Amino acid sequence: MTIQQPVNAPVRPDAQIVTEVTHWTDRLFSFRVTRPASLRFRSGEFVMIGLLKEDGKPLLRAYSIASPSWDETLEFYSIKVPDGPLTSKLQNISVGDQVIVRPKPVGTLVTDALLPGKRLWLLATGTGIAPFASLIRDPDIYERYEQVILTHTCRTVEELTYGQRLVEGLPEDPLVGEQAMDKLHYFATVTQEKFVNKGRITDLMRSGELFEALGTGPLNPAEDRVMICGSMGLNLDVKTILEEASFTEGSNSAPADFVVEKAFVG
Ligand SMILES: Cc1cc2nc3c(=O)[nH]c(=O)nc-3n(C[C@H](O)[C@H](O)[C@H](O)COP(=O)(O)OP(=O)(O)OC[C@H]3O[C@@H](n4cnc5c(N)ncnc54)[C@H](O)[C@@H]3O)c2cc1C
Repeated sequence: MTIQQPVNAPVRPDAQIVTEVTHWTDRLFSFRVTRPASLRFRSGEFVMIGLLKEDGKPLLRAYSIASPSWDETLEFYSIKVPDGPLTSKLQNISVGDQVIVRPKPVGTLVTDALLPGKRLWLLATGTGIAPFASLIRDPDIYERYEQVILTHTCRTVEELTYGQRLVEGLPEDPLVGEQAMDKLHYFATVTQEKFVNKGRITDLMRSGELFEALGTGPLNPAEDRVMICGSMGLNLDVKTILEEASFTEGSNSAPADFVVEKAFVG
C-alpha cells in the first residue's frame, strides 16, 4: 500500500513526501513530511492523513499535527495498531514515500478556544500528547500564560520517550527555548510500571497529589485553563472533575475555561 518512490518523483496533488521516520517503541513512531505550500493551521489542530488503498482510493484518518504552526515540515506522532487499516501500513513508511495530507486543519485544542488565564494545563494520555507537542513549541502559549503544565500518562516508561525527548530538547529551541525553560513544567506518570509518578492523572487530581507536587494549589476557574486529549474515558473523567470545580467547556465560537478532544475513537 505504501507508495515507494524516490524523493524527486511526481507526487499526487494531495500527497507529501516523508522526510524522517523515528520508531520509539513497537507501538509508537513519529514521522515528518513536507508541508503543503498552502497549508495554514493553528498549533493544536488536526488534519486527515492517509495512504492509497490497493483500489487507488485514499484511506484517511484524523491526525493531530505535532509540529508547531511555524515549522517548515509537518510532524505526526502515531500509534501502530497491528490490524489497524491505516497504521498496519503507515508504520512501514520510509523516507521518500508519499503520505496524503488533506489541507483542512480543524480542532478545539487551540488557544483561541480558551479565555485568557494565568496557567495553562495540557493533560494528555498516549498519543494525545501530539497536539501539545505542537503547542509547547509555539511562542504564542508562553506569551499568553505565566505557566504551562504538560502532563503525560502512559502505560509504560518506554511509552513516555517521545514526550521526554521533546521536552528535554526544548531549552535548545532557538524560538521558544528561553520561555519554555522559564514557564513549562512537565509531569509524566505511568500506570503499569514503577516510576517516580505512578497512576492515572485523574486519581492524582482527585487526591490533590498532582497540585501538591507542582505547588499550584487546586484548580481554579479564575486563573487555570485546561486542554485535554486522551481516550474517551480519560476525557470524560477530567471533564467531570473540571465541571465539579465550576469550569465551563469552550469552543472556537465560544471560548471558555477548558477544551477537550479525543486522541482516538473507540
Ligand atoms: C481528532 C483525532 C485526532 C487523532 N490524532 C491522532 C494522532 O495524532 N496520532 C495517532 O496515532 N492517532 C490519532 N488519532 C487516531 C487515528 O485517527 C486512527 O484511529 C489511528 O491512526 C489508527 O488507525 P487505523 O486505521 O490503523 O485503526 P482504526 O480502525 O482507526 O483504530 C482501531 C482501534 O485502535 C485503537 N486506536 C486507534 N488510534 C489509537 C491511538 N492513537 N491510541 C491508542 N489506541 C488507538 C482504537 O481502539 C480503535 O478502535 C486521532 C483521532 C482523532 C478522532
